[in-house]
Amino acid sequence: MIQVENIHKKFDQNEILKGIDLTIEQGEVVVIIGPSGSGKTTFLRCLNFLERADQGTLRIGDKEVDFEKVSKKEILDIRKKTAMVFQQYALFSNRTALENVIEGLVIARKVPKKLAVEKGRDLLAKVGLEGKEDHYPHELSGGQQQRVGIARALALNPEVILFDEPTSALDPELVGETLGVIKQVANEGSTLVIVTHEMQFAYEVADRVIFMENGVIVEQGTPEEVFDNTQEERTKNFLKRTA
Ligand code: ATP
Repeated sequence: MIQVENIHKKFDQNEILKGIDLTIEQGEVVVIIGPSGSGKTTFLRCLNFLERADQGTLRIGDKEVDFEKVSKKEILDIRKKTAMVFQQYALFSNRTALENVIEGLVIARKVPKKLAVEKGRDLLAKVGLEGKEDHYPHELSGGQQQRVGIARALALNPEVILFDEPTSALDPELVGETLGVIKQVANEGSTLVIVTHEMQFAYEVADRVIFMENGVIVEQGTPEEVFDNTQEERTKNFLKRTA
C-alpha cells in the first residue's frame, strides 16, 4: 500500500502541489489525468524523491517518511520500493537492451550476473522483445525502447511502478504497442501509478482515475464515474477540451 498525506511542493514561490492526500492499494492501477502544468509529473517524482516535497508524509509498504526530516538512508529505502518509466525512456545508450534491463539488478540489488541475465531475457520476451536482447537503443524504435524501460522497471520487482507519460514521446503508430504492454502488466496485479494524456487508455486500464488541476485532486473515481458521470465542472471542462 502507498499512502501520501498532505504533500506540498513549491518551485521558488510557485506552489505546484497544494496538499495531496492519496491512498493506493496493493495491485491498484491509478491513472492521473489533468491539464498541462497541473502538477501530475511533479507529484509522481515526489513519490520516488526525484523531487523533494516540502511537506507531507509518504508511506510505501512498511516504510514511512516525513518529507521535512527524511534521511538519505530513508530516501534510498523508498527508492528501492519504486521504479519509474520515463517519457524519454532514459536508457543507457552504450548498453544493449539486455544490459539496460539487468543493470539495476546486478549493480544495486547484487543479483548474480547469470541469474540476472536469465531474468532479463524472460522480461524482454514478456514485453515482446525476444531476439532484441543485444540491440542498442539506437537500433530500436521508440516503442521498443520504451518496452525495454518497462522491462527494466519490472526487473526490480518494486512495490509500485510509476509511469510518467510513457507514450507522449512516441510516434502515434507506436503508442498502441506500448499501452498494450502496460495493460498486460496491470492485469498481472502490479501496483501502478500512471500519468497520461491518453484518455481512452485511462478508461480501459484504470481501477481509479484521478483528475488533478492546479496542484490539487479535484475529482476521483472509477473510469465510469469520472468519464461518464463527471461531477465537477472543472473536470467536465477538461474532458471537453480533450475529447
Ligand atoms: P504536463 O501534462 O504538461 O506534463 P504536469 O501536470 O505534469 O504537466 P508538472 O510537470 O508537474 O505538470 O509541472 C507543474 C508546474 O511546475 C509547471 O508550471 C512547471 O513549469 C513547474 N515545474 C516543474 N518542474 C520544475 C522545476 N524543476 N523548476 C521549476 N518549475 C518546475
